[in-house]
Amino acid sequence: MTTEQLDAVIVGAGFAGIGAAIQLKRLGIDDFVILDREDDLGGTWYVNHYPGLAVDVPTTTYSYFFEPNPNWSRLFTPGPEIKQYADDVADKYDVRKHMRFSTTVEGARWDEDANVWRIALAGGETMTARYLITATGFLSQPKVPDIPGIAGFEGKVIHTTEWEDDFDATGRRIAVIGTGATAVQLIPELAKRAADLTVYQRTPIWVVPKVDLRFGERTKRMFARIPLTQRVLRWLTDSIYEVMVSVGVRHYRTFRGRFNISAADLSKLHRFAVIRDPELRRRLTPDYDFGCKRPTFSNGYYRAFTKPNVHLQDAGIDHLDADGIIGKDGTKNAIDTLVLATGFDLWEANFPAIEVIGRDGRDLGKWWRDTRFQAYQGVSMPYFPNYLSLASPYAFLGLNFFNTMEYQMRLMDRLLSEVKRRGATTFEVTEEANAAFLDRMTELLGDSIFTAGNCGSANSYYFNPAGEPTLLRPSSTETAIREASEFPLADYQIA
Ligand code: NAP
Repeated sequence: MTTEQLDAVIVGAGFAGIGAAIQLKRLGIDDFVILDREDDLGGTWYVNHYPGLAVDVPTTTYSYFFEPNPNWSRLFTPGPEIKQYADDVADKYDVRKHMRFSTTVEGARWDEDANVWRIALAGGETMTARYLITATGFLSQPKVPDIPGIAGFEGKVIHTTEWEDDFDATGRRIAVIGTGATAVQLIPELAKRAADLTVYQRTPIWVVPKVDLRFGERTKRMFARIPLTQRVLRWLTDSIYEVMVSVGVRHYRTFRGRFNISAADLSKLHRFAVIRDPELRRRLTPDYDFGCKRPTFSNGYYRAFTKPNVHLQDAGIDHLDADGIIGKDGTKNAIDTLVLATGFDLWEANFPAIEVIGRDGRDLGKWWRDTRFQAYQGVSMPYFPNYLSLASPYAFLGLNFFNTMEYQMRLMDRLLSEVKRRGATTFEVTEEANAAFLDRMTELLGDSIFTAGNCGSANSYYFNPAGEPTLLRPSSTETAIREASEFPLADYQIA
């Protein structure tokens, strides 16, 4: 078998991979492929198509800075429109031709003699690339719970990432496990049709009302003809979200959690307005601070529990048998469908999503676990030359993925332009720069809700298995973009 030789390999054809591809092209690098295990592009927005799926940050904010979309139908747009946006951007910037679908990357190893990455694909094929960019997303490895008896359950089992579009909930007895953002969107939809719907809640979630708007044809025409109008709206929604994350998450201690208390009060009011039964309200009330895990927006979630066909089960699951769930309280609930809204394995399966072996045989996953989860500017690790890991610890700015992409694209621009200018072959972040960045992130997190708040019972994926909140980058979008555009080039060894 021959080995294909490329300038760059991007793993993942979601918004991160598409953004990285656009940036490579802008830098004059055209000899690259984007590999994806799915059979289409869009990443999470291709994989997820369960009923009720919609973006949970305003779409005015949810797009590449350089590619506003005047066609969104709502402020909180349904999932299929986001997938369409991914298609449109990939076509407009002509990156689809670089994509290879149904291609699973098993691992990548740095070849120190040849200064290339050797990439192994599932079918036994290999490729070499000068640059490796993993754009594998944060929530891409579905978590299937290891509940005793689940394999012997004879009804239908559906994980929300594998939704069957022709599945009809009408007349079914359904159990949903999980009460995260996905479940909050899905449950009101299932509740409309199911004969019986039991929600298995382990940890209650904060839910606040969703203030949604429809964008009529006139508004869309205005956005298209006068792009400044959409820019202004984006500036507004960006600013509101930025302030919320700053005050409620990053500077929780400084603001003494006041924002979080107000948001929790709003959620309480929402429960009070919708649910008459005080005991049910109590059971749906989280006992950790608002913001410890991603809060959700819904006008239908609490209301669903007031329907006669919907029940909350919070006694825990003991096991499954062939036709039902046995709760820890000994009760049996006969079901024909089990919906797993159990989310994603972020830390174990995703960091990294493929095996990556750098210089001197350093195994990225092992190194992160043996030391601490860390990545300079959310993309680079020492001993991993010519590698950018876009789904890294300290990469995600919180709430809006596109802001993260914006700074990562700027970092690519600065770094790869310099490599080109010097006619160099490799770049690698220095150990000193990486250590200083990690220290700075750790210190900044001291003011955050994760350190100063009451998050112990939240079961939040913002925390790694060692209990450190190493997912979110504790800086504003503006700061991250500035740093990505101005970081000292001496932080990298460019040779
Ligand atoms: P998630 O937030 O991780 O929620 C998973 C749920 O499953 C949690 O309630 C969890 O309980 C429960 N669970 C997992 N394993 C369990 C077990 N063995 N037994 C009982 N319960 C179990 O996952 P998600 O709801 O899919 O959402 C993930 C993220 O995706 C969100 O935070 C959000 O960032 C993103 N999302 C975005 C959108 C959007 O923008 N449109 C929509 C959906 C999701 P514990 O809390 O006790 O672990």
